[in-house]
Amino acid sequence: MTISFSLQGSSGTARAGTITTPHGPIHTPIFMPVGTQATVKGLTPDMVTAAGAEIVLGNTYHLTLRPGDELIRDLGGLHKFMNWQKPILTDSGGYQVFSLAQQRKITDAGAKFKSHIDGRTLELTPEKAVEIQENLGSDIAMVLDECPPADGTPEVQRNAVRRSLLWAERCQKHHTRADQAQFAIVQGGLDYELRRECAEPLVAMGFPGYALGGFSVGEAPEKMHAALPACAALLPAHKPRYLMGVGTPRDLLIAIGAGLDMFDCVMPTRSGRNALAFTSTGPVRLRNAKHRRDPASLMSDCACYCCANFSRAYLHHLFHTEEMLGPTLLSLHNIAFYLQLMREARMAILADDYTEFARSRLAALQVPN
Ligand SMILES: [Zn+2]
Repeated sequence: MTISFSLQGSSGTARAGTITTPHGPIHTPIFMPVGTQATVKGLTPDMVTAAGAEIVLGNTYHLTLRPGDELIRDLGGLHKFMNWQKPILTDSGGYQVFSLAQQRKITDAGAKFKSHIDGRTLELTPEKAVEIQENLGSDIAMVLDECPPADGTPEVQRNAVRRSLLWAERCQKHHTRADQAQFAIVQGGLDYELRRECAEPLVAMGFPGYALGGFSVGEAPEKMHAALPACAALLPAHKPRYLMGVGTPRDLLIAIGAGLDMFDCVMPTRSGRNALAFTSTGPVRLRNAKHRRDPASLMSDCACYCCANFSRAYLHHLFHTEEMLGPTLLSLHNIAFYLQLMREARMAILADDYTEFARSRLAALQVPN
Protein backbone atom coordinates (compact mmCIF):
# COMPACT_ATOMS: atom_id res chain seq x y z
CA MET A 1 0.00 0.00 0.00
CA THR A 2 1.48 3.35 -1.01
CA ILE A 3 -0.64 5.41 1.36
CA SER A 4 0.07 5.14 5.03
CA PHE A 5 -1.31 6.93 8.08
CA SER A 6 0.38 7.52 11.39
CA LEU A 7 -0.90 9.28 14.51
CA GLN A 8 1.33 11.81 16.26
CA GLY A 9 -1.03 12.73 19.05
CA SER A 10 -4.57 12.95 20.34
CA SER A 11 -6.56 15.17 22.67
CA GLY A 12 -9.83 13.65 23.81
CA THR A 13 -11.13 12.14 20.56
CA ALA A 14 -9.36 14.73 18.34
CA ARG A 15 -6.37 13.36 16.42
CA ALA A 16 -3.21 14.74 14.78
CA GLY A 17 -1.76 12.46 12.11
CA THR A 18 0.21 12.27 8.89
CA ILE A 19 -0.97 10.67 5.65
CA THR A 20 1.98 9.70 3.46
CA THR A 21 1.26 9.65 -0.29
CA PRO A 22 3.32 9.30 -3.50
CA HIS A 23 3.08 13.10 -3.85
CA GLY A 24 4.13 14.00 -0.30
CA PRO A 25 2.77 14.12 3.24
CA ILE A 26 -0.54 15.50 4.46
CA HIS A 27 -0.64 16.69 8.06
CA THR A 28 -4.03 16.22 9.67
CA PRO A 29 -6.44 17.67 10.53
CA ILE A 30 -6.45 19.04 6.99
CA PHE A 31 -8.77 21.08 4.78
CA MET A 32 -8.73 20.29 1.04
CA PRO A 33 -9.47 23.24 -1.29
CA VAL A 34 -11.84 22.19 -4.08
CA GLY A 35 -10.40 22.25 -7.61
CA THR A 36 -13.53 21.22 -9.49
CA GLN A 37 -12.34 21.77 -13.07
CA ALA A 38 -8.65 20.99 -12.43
CA THR A 39 -8.25 24.47 -10.95
CA VAL A 40 -8.95 26.03 -7.57
CA LYS A 41 -11.00 28.83 -9.11
CA GLY A 42 -9.11 32.09 -9.54
CA LEU A 43 -5.86 30.89 -7.94
CA THR A 44 -2.57 29.69 -9.45
CA PRO A 45 -1.03 26.54 -7.91
CA ASP A 46 1.64 28.82 -6.36
CA MET A 47 -1.07 30.76 -4.53
CA VAL A 48 -2.75 27.55 -3.35
CA THR A 49 0.61 26.34 -2.01
CA ALA A 50 1.32 29.71 -0.36
CA ALA A 51 -2.08 29.47 1.36
CA GLY A 52 -0.76 26.32 3.04
CA ALA A 53 -2.62 23.65 1.05
CA GLU A 54 -1.15 20.14 1.18
CA ILE A 55 -3.82 18.45 -0.96
CA VAL A 56 -6.58 19.58 -3.34
CA LEU A 57 -9.73 17.88 -4.54
CA GLY A 58 -10.72 17.22 -8.17
CA ASN A 59 -14.22 16.38 -9.39
CA THR A 60 -14.59 13.23 -11.47
CA TYR A 61 -17.97 14.19 -12.94
CA HIS A 62 -16.76 17.55 -14.26
CA LEU A 63 -13.39 16.30 -15.51
CA THR A 64 -14.85 13.33 -17.36
CA LEU A 65 -17.27 15.65 -19.18
CA ARG A 66 -14.57 18.24 -19.97
CA PRO A 67 -11.82 17.73 -21.07
CA GLY A 68 -12.26 13.95 -20.57
CA ASP A 69 -10.34 11.63 -18.27
CA GLU A 70 -8.64 9.79 -21.15
CA LEU A 71 -7.28 13.06 -22.52
CA ILE A 72 -5.90 13.93 -19.07
CA ARG A 73 -4.35 10.46 -18.83
CA ASP A 74 -2.77 10.86 -22.29
CA LEU A 75 -1.28 14.21 -21.23
CA GLY A 76 0.40 12.66 -18.20
CA GLY A 77 -2.31 12.67 -15.53
CA LEU A 78 -4.10 15.29 -13.46
CA HIS A 79 -1.05 16.41 -11.41
CA LYS A 80 0.85 17.30 -14.57
CA PHE A 81 -2.20 18.67 -16.41
CA MET A 82 -2.97 21.25 -13.68
CA ASN A 83 0.64 21.62 -12.53
CA TRP A 84 -0.10 20.58 -8.94
CA GLN A 85 2.63 18.28 -7.63
CA LYS A 86 1.18 17.67 -4.16
CA PRO A 87 -1.50 15.06 -3.38
CA ILE A 88 -4.90 15.09 -5.09
CA LEU A 89 -8.11 13.43 -3.95
CA THR A 90 -10.86 12.78 -6.49
CA ASP A 91 -14.50 12.08 -5.72
CA SER A 92 -16.40 9.34 -7.53
CA GLY A 93 -18.68 11.62 -9.52
CA GLY A 94 -21.77 10.18 -7.84
CA TYR A 95 -22.66 13.28 -5.85
CA GLN A 96 -22.67 15.48 -8.99
CA VAL A 97 -24.69 12.95 -10.97
CA PHE A 98 -27.32 13.09 -8.23
CA SER A 99 -27.20 16.90 -7.89
CA LEU A 100 -26.41 18.24 -11.40
CA ALA A 101 -27.23 15.71 -14.11
CA GLN A 102 -30.58 15.70 -15.86
CA GLN A 103 -32.95 12.76 -16.33
CA ARG A 104 -30.91 10.46 -14.16
CA LYS A 105 -31.95 6.89 -13.61
CA ILE A 106 -30.24 5.03 -10.80
CA THR A 107 -30.33 1.27 -10.52
CA ASP A 108 -28.05 -1.25 -8.81
CA ALA A 109 -26.10 -1.41 -12.10
CA GLY A 110 -25.18 2.30 -11.89
CA ALA A 111 -26.46 5.73 -12.87
CA LYS A 112 -27.64 6.67 -16.37
CA PHE A 113 -27.93 10.41 -16.91
CA LYS A 114 -27.77 13.28 -19.36
CA SER A 115 -24.79 15.64 -19.16
CA HIS A 116 -25.77 19.09 -17.82
CA ILE A 117 -23.36 20.57 -20.40
CA ASP A 118 -24.53 19.14 -23.72
CA GLY A 119 -27.29 16.63 -22.95
CA ARG A 120 -25.21 13.56 -23.92
CA THR A 121 -26.43 10.34 -22.32
CA LEU A 122 -23.73 8.88 -20.07
CA GLU A 123 -23.42 6.05 -17.62
CA LEU A 124 -21.55 6.03 -14.34
CA THR A 125 -21.07 2.55 -12.90
CA PRO A 126 -18.83 1.64 -9.95
CA GLU A 127 -16.30 0.20 -12.44
CA LYS A 128 -16.42 3.35 -14.59
CA ALA A 129 -15.87 5.59 -11.52
CA VAL A 130 -12.76 3.56 -10.71
CA GLU A 131 -11.44 3.70 -14.30
CA ILE A 132 -11.94 7.47 -14.57
CA GLN A 133 -10.10 8.11 -11.29
CA GLU A 134 -7.28 5.76 -12.35
CA ASN A 135 -6.99 7.75 -15.59
CA LEU A 136 -6.83 10.98 -13.60
CA GLY A 137 -4.15 9.43 -11.38
CA SER A 138 -5.26 10.94 -8.07
CA ASP A 139 -3.50 9.82 -4.88
CA ILE A 140 -6.81 9.13 -3.14
CA ALA A 141 -9.88 7.90 -5.03
CA MET A 142 -13.39 7.51 -3.64
CA VAL A 143 -15.76 4.59 -4.21
CA LEU A 144 -19.04 5.30 -5.99
CA ASP A 145 -21.83 5.68 -3.44
CA GLU A 146 -25.41 6.88 -3.34
CA CYS A 147 -25.82 10.06 -1.31
CA PRO A 148 -29.49 10.76 -0.56
CA PRO A 149 -30.75 14.16 0.68
CA ALA A 150 -31.26 14.66 4.42
CA ASP A 151 -35.03 14.50 4.02
CA GLY A 152 -34.85 11.10 2.29
CA THR A 153 -37.30 8.65 3.90
CA PRO A 154 -35.92 5.80 6.03
CA GLU A 155 -36.61 3.56 3.02
CA VAL A 156 -34.52 5.81 0.75
CA GLN A 157 -31.70 5.90 3.34
CA ARG A 158 -31.77 2.11 3.76
CA ASN A 159 -31.66 1.55 0.01
CA ALA A 160 -28.74 4.00 -0.35
CA VAL A 161 -26.80 2.02 2.26
CA ARG A 162 -27.57 -1.30 0.55
CA ARG A 163 -26.54 0.06 -2.85
CA SER A 164 -23.45 1.86 -1.52
CA LEU A 165 -22.22 -1.42 0.02
CA LEU A 166 -22.80 -3.26 -3.24
CA TRP A 167 -20.96 -0.56 -5.20
CA ALA A 168 -18.05 -0.36 -2.71
CA GLU A 169 -17.42 -4.06 -3.20
CA ARG A 170 -17.42 -3.69 -7.01
CA CYS A 171 -15.11 -0.64 -6.79
CA GLN A 172 -12.64 -2.50 -4.60
CA LYS A 173 -12.63 -5.48 -6.97
CA HIS A 174 -12.06 -3.30 -10.03
CA HIS A 175 -9.30 -1.11 -8.55
CA THR A 176 -5.82 -1.78 -9.99
CA ARG A 177 -3.51 1.20 -9.38
CA ALA A 178 -1.03 0.43 -6.60
CA ASP A 179 -0.06 4.12 -6.33
CA GLN A 180 -3.64 5.17 -5.55
CA ALA A 181 -5.57 4.55 -2.31
CA GLN A 182 -9.29 3.90 -2.53
CA PHE A 183 -11.42 5.22 0.36
CA ALA A 184 -14.84 3.79 1.26
CA ILE A 185 -17.87 5.95 2.14
CA VAL A 186 -20.31 5.35 4.99
CA GLN A 187 -23.90 6.50 4.34
CA GLY A 188 -26.97 6.16 6.58
CA GLY A 189 -28.11 9.75 7.20
CA LEU A 190 -28.82 10.64 10.82
CA ASP A 191 -29.77 7.06 11.78
CA TYR A 192 -26.94 5.65 13.91
CA GLU A 193 -28.02 2.02 13.47
CA LEU A 194 -28.02 2.44 9.70
CA ARG A 195 -24.58 4.09 9.81
CA ARG A 196 -23.34 1.11 11.83
CA GLU A 197 -24.86 -1.36 9.35
CA CYS A 198 -22.99 0.46 6.58
CA ALA A 199 -19.69 0.94 8.41
CA GLU A 200 -19.16 -2.57 9.77
CA PRO A 201 -19.00 -4.45 6.42
CA LEU A 202 -16.91 -1.64 4.89
CA VAL A 203 -14.43 -1.81 7.75
CA ALA A 204 -14.25 -5.59 7.31
CA MET A 205 -13.31 -5.03 3.65
CA GLY A 206 -10.12 -3.30 4.76
CA PHE A 207 -10.04 -0.03 2.80
CA PRO A 208 -7.00 2.23 3.49
CA GLY A 209 -9.28 5.12 4.52
CA TYR A 210 -12.90 5.89 5.32
CA ALA A 211 -15.29 8.78 4.71
CA LEU A 212 -18.57 9.86 6.20
CA GLY A 213 -20.84 10.90 3.30
CA GLY A 214 -24.39 12.18 3.47
CA PHE A 215 -23.75 14.99 5.94
CA SER A 216 -24.35 18.69 5.20
CA VAL A 217 -27.02 17.67 2.69
CA GLY A 218 -29.81 19.85 4.07
CA GLU A 219 -30.04 18.84 7.74
CA ALA A 220 -29.65 21.39 10.57
CA PRO A 221 -25.94 21.78 11.47
CA GLU A 222 -26.74 20.90 15.10
CA LYS A 223 -28.08 17.50 14.00
CA MET A 224 -24.84 16.77 12.13
CA HIS A 225 -22.75 17.98 15.09
CA ALA A 226 -24.66 15.66 17.44
CA ALA A 227 -24.27 12.64 15.12
CA LEU A 228 -20.56 13.00 14.35
CA PRO A 229 -18.86 11.58 17.50
CA ALA A 230 -20.70 8.24 17.34
CA CYS A 231 -20.32 7.98 13.54
CA ALA A 232 -16.59 8.78 13.66
CA ALA A 233 -16.16 6.07 16.31
CA LEU A 234 -17.47 3.49 13.81
CA LEU A 235 -14.34 4.06 11.68
CA PRO A 236 -10.96 2.40 12.37
CA ALA A 237 -8.70 4.51 14.63
CA HIS A 238 -5.54 3.73 12.62
CA LYS A 239 -6.88 4.98 9.26
CA PRO A 240 -7.71 8.47 7.91
CA ARG A 241 -11.29 9.64 8.48
CA TYR A 242 -12.75 12.07 5.93
CA LEU A 243 -15.94 14.11 6.43
CA MET A 244 -17.15 14.88 2.90
CA GLY A 245 -18.41 18.31 1.81
CA VAL A 246 -18.17 20.02 5.23
CA GLY A 247 -18.23 22.90 6.09
CA THR A 248 -18.06 26.20 8.03
CA PRO A 249 -15.14 26.95 10.42
CA ARG A 250 -17.56 26.07 13.24
CA ASP A 251 -18.43 22.71 11.65
CA LEU A 252 -14.74 21.90 11.26
CA LEU A 253 -13.85 22.74 14.87
CA ILE A 254 -16.66 20.46 16.07
CA ALA A 255 -15.83 17.67 13.58
CA ILE A 256 -12.14 17.67 14.55
CA GLY A 257 -13.23 17.30 18.17
CA ALA A 258 -15.31 14.28 17.10
CA GLY A 259 -12.24 12.57 15.62
CA LEU A 260 -12.42 13.46 11.91
CA ASP A 261 -9.18 14.23 10.01
CA MET A 262 -9.98 15.45 6.47
CA PHE A 263 -12.47 17.99 5.12
CA ASP A 264 -13.42 19.60 1.81
CA CYS A 265 -15.93 22.29 0.96
CA VAL A 266 -16.54 24.83 -1.80
CA MET A 267 -17.49 27.41 0.84
CA PRO A 268 -14.16 29.30 1.19
CA THR A 269 -13.71 29.72 -2.58
CA ARG A 270 -17.38 30.21 -3.49
CA SER A 271 -17.85 32.73 -0.67
CA GLY A 272 -14.58 34.44 -1.61
CA ARG A 273 -15.88 34.99 -5.14
CA ASN A 274 -18.97 36.56 -3.60
CA ALA A 275 -17.12 39.07 -1.37
CA LEU A 276 -17.62 37.08 1.83
CA ALA A 277 -14.50 36.55 3.92
CA PHE A 278 -14.12 34.12 6.82
CA THR A 279 -12.22 35.48 9.82
CA SER A 280 -11.55 34.33 13.38
CA THR A 281 -14.34 36.66 14.53
CA GLY A 282 -16.89 35.46 11.98
CA PRO A 283 -17.74 36.39 8.37
CA VAL A 284 -17.01 39.83 6.85
CA ARG A 285 -18.97 41.09 3.82
CA LEU A 286 -16.62 43.27 1.78
CA ARG A 287 -19.41 44.74 -0.38
CA ASN A 288 -20.82 46.40 2.75
CA ALA A 289 -20.51 50.22 2.51
CA LYS A 290 -18.94 50.45 5.97
CA HIS A 291 -15.65 49.19 4.47
CA ARG A 292 -15.43 52.00 1.86
CA ARG A 293 -12.88 54.10 3.80
CA ASP A 294 -11.47 51.41 6.08
CA PRO A 295 -7.65 51.32 5.93
CA ALA A 296 -7.46 48.19 8.14
CA SER A 297 -6.48 44.80 6.73
CA LEU A 298 -9.18 42.16 6.43
CA MET A 299 -7.82 40.20 9.41
CA SER A 300 -5.00 41.63 11.54
CA ASP A 301 -3.47 38.29 12.58
CA CYS A 302 -3.57 36.61 9.15
CA ALA A 303 -0.26 36.34 7.29
CA CYS A 304 -1.77 35.69 3.84
CA TYR A 305 -0.84 37.83 0.82
CA CYS A 306 -4.23 39.55 0.88
CA CYS A 307 -4.12 40.56 4.55
CA ALA A 308 -0.42 41.48 4.43
CA ASN A 309 -0.82 43.91 1.53
CA PHE A 310 -4.33 45.29 1.09
CA SER A 311 -6.94 47.29 3.00
CA ARG A 312 -10.64 46.52 3.42
CA ALA A 313 -11.26 49.75 1.48
CA TYR A 314 -9.30 48.36 -1.50
CA LEU A 315 -11.09 44.99 -1.38
CA HIS A 316 -14.44 46.83 -1.20
CA HIS A 317 -13.40 48.85 -4.26
CA LEU A 318 -12.41 45.70 -6.22
CA PHE A 319 -15.80 44.08 -5.64
CA HIS A 320 -17.63 47.35 -6.27
CA THR A 321 -15.94 47.65 -9.68
CA GLU A 322 -16.18 43.89 -10.37
CA GLU A 323 -12.42 43.51 -10.83
CA MET A 324 -11.06 39.94 -11.14
CA LEU A 325 -8.55 40.53 -8.37
CA GLY A 326 -11.28 40.78 -5.71
CA PRO A 327 -12.42 37.12 -6.00
CA THR A 328 -8.79 36.02 -6.27
CA LEU A 329 -7.66 37.83 -3.09
CA LEU A 330 -10.65 36.71 -1.02
CA SER A 331 -10.43 33.10 -2.23
CA LEU A 332 -6.76 33.16 -1.28
CA HIS A 333 -7.48 34.60 2.18
CA ASN A 334 -10.37 32.19 2.87
CA ILE A 335 -8.28 29.14 2.00
CA ALA A 336 -5.34 30.48 4.03
CA PHE A 337 -7.70 31.11 6.96
CA TYR A 338 -9.14 27.56 6.83
CA LEU A 339 -5.65 26.05 6.63
CA GLN A 340 -4.31 28.25 9.43
CA LEU A 341 -7.23 27.02 11.55
CA MET A 342 -6.23 23.41 10.74
CA ARG A 343 -2.58 24.04 11.71
CA GLU A 344 -3.61 25.68 14.99
CA ALA A 345 -5.98 22.80 15.72
CA ARG A 346 -3.14 20.34 15.08
CA MET A 347 -0.86 22.24 17.49
CA ALA A 348 -3.59 22.26 20.15
CA ILE A 349 -4.09 18.49 19.72
CA LEU A 350 -0.35 17.86 20.00
CA ALA A 351 -0.34 19.96 23.20
CA ASP A 352 -3.38 17.95 24.40
CA ASP A 353 -5.35 21.18 24.72
CA TYR A 354 -7.95 20.78 21.97
CA THR A 355 -11.10 21.17 24.09
CA GLU A 356 -10.01 24.57 25.40
CA PHE A 357 -8.73 25.64 21.95
CA ALA A 358 -12.04 24.74 20.27
CA ARG A 359 -14.05 26.40 23.04
CA SER A 360 -12.21 29.73 22.67
CA ARG A 361 -12.22 29.64 18.84
CA LEU A 362 -15.95 28.79 18.73
CA ALA A 363 -16.67 31.65 21.18
CA ALA A 364 -14.65 34.12 19.04
CA LEU A 365 -16.65 33.14 15.92
CA GLN A 366 -19.80 34.43 17.63
CA VAL A 367 -18.48 38.03 17.90
CA PRO A 368 -20.47 40.23 15.49
CA ASN A 369 -18.35 42.12 12.91
ZN1 LIG B 1 -5.69 36.68 5.13
